[in-house]
Amino acid sequence: MPQMPPAHPFDDDKLREECGVFGVTGVQDAANFVALGLHALQHRGQEAGGIVTHDPEQGFNSARRFGYVRDNFTSTDIMETLPGPLAIGHVRYSTAGAKGAAIRDVQPFFGEFAMGGAAIAHNGNITNADALRRELIERGSIFQSSSDSECIIHLMARSLQRDIPERMEDALRRVEGAFSIVAMTRTQLIGVRDPLGVRPLVLGQIGDGWVLSSETCALDIIGADFVREIEPGEMVVITPETGVESLFPFRRQKPRFCIFEHVYFSRPDSILGGRSVYETRAAIGRELAKESPVEADLVCPVPDSGTPAAIGFSQESGIPYAMGIIRNQYMGRTFIEPTEQIRNMGVRLKLNVNRALIRGKRVILVDDSVVRGTTSRKIKEMILDAGAKEVHFRIASPPTAWPCFYGVDTPQREKLLAATMSEDEMREHLAVDSLKFISLDGLYRAVGEATGRDASCPQYCDACFSGEYPVKPADMIEKGFEMKPAAE
Ligand code: SF4
Repeated sequence: MPQMPPAHPFDDDKLREECGVFGVTGVQDAANFVALGLHALQHRGQEAGGIVTHDPEQGFNSARRFGYVRDNFTSTDIMETLPGPLAIGHVRYSTAGAKGAAIRDVQPFFGEFAMGGAAIAHNGNITNADALRRELIERGSIFQSSSDSECIIHLMARSLQRDIPERMEDALRRVEGAFSIVAMTRTQLIGVRDPLGVRPLVLGQIGDGWVLSSETCALDIIGADFVREIEPGEMVVITPETGVESLFPFRRQKPRFCIFEHVYFSRPDSILGGRSVYETRAAIGRELAKESPVEADLVCPVPDSGTPAAIGFSQESGIPYAMGIIRNQYMGRTFIEPTEQIRNMGVRLKLNVNRALIRGKRVILVDDSVVRGTTSRKIKEMILDAGAKEVHFRIASPPTAWPCFYGVDTPQREKLLAATMSEDEMREHLAVDSLKFISLDGLYRAVGEATGRDASCPQYCDACFSGEYPVKPADMIEKGFEMKPAAE
């Protein structure tokens, strides 16, 4: 059986983005464009990927593989089996379903209905999937995978509506949680975002063709123009002949986009909510420098995700920015066995301290987040080994104290350092000279909310920091998850 790529030895100390979706219609050999788009979205999921195409003569075709896009969807053998002007694709790191599971869990999923076939690729997580699955199985549905996303296909099969977009609307009205979906019929490319718009989805144009993508960076790679974001609660049905039809089938709600996309998940060269992700991260660094200044000689990022925030911190504080830690770009797939020994070496394999720069210096290390804290500890040891005089951590997100149930892989709550320790205890645990996180209000200011977080109705989803979940995680509550008690 093909192997999925191994996780980096210390990547379990980051929250892990879920999935990326991409679709295109109205171009020759659409699968090639989808492969390139998925390659640009690889940071959103490295475990597996899949592409479904439709060709007027050859009908639907699909290929689903474990591993990186570049290792699968570049071979002529595979790409020749995916003809046609309409295609969708998906990269995943599983957030629901068994981890490292069978190829049947790899999307896009396909369903054959009376009015024709349809394929769907889902980014997000359905928070009432267990209940839906039970109900569907009781009523005779036969599930093929362990994925929550398959519920959508079965709900569509049971709908009495006449066409596939209407069946999809019907199905999605039953679904709770986060979904950004790219789907296709024989002739239509379909995009849908949940009413809160938790996960991103954008529309692009390439010649006479149209593109849907999780992020704008994947439009750039194929030379498509960014048109706009799909709005929260919007469904678009696209054909090259009729263009983009926009519908709002769900009850309107105030959007709650995932604020962590700005901090870490999205690529820095993407545009989110009209703002450059890179610029937002630099702004987070500036806020952090204002909130938690400290005297030091150097500001160094923990590469690569801490880089824009470190640049912002340096700009605001006037403390020189330096590449105190160098990342080995080629570490990737060399170390397959995640044994304890390799785990212990992990950080050193991937990151090395620039000793000549660090010796005798008071160093500020800027990182995007602290999840379990294991990596932060090792990096601190490496910096001290290299002769640093002081180590100060500045973190570009508030303490991550709650799990995400909307399409991001998070350790269980008790494994999150911030769930069990105060900031002072974390500083002691990491044994650093100081440790400060950006405040929730500071983060909101950095993403463009001048007055900070509206506590009565927050502008974003920030549940992993605040414990305030915009959609009740029904399945998890049934399994014993305890929500934060409502404020008095
Ligand atoms: S809980 Fe955190 S990671 Fe999950 S959607 Fe909300 S802000 Fe994003």
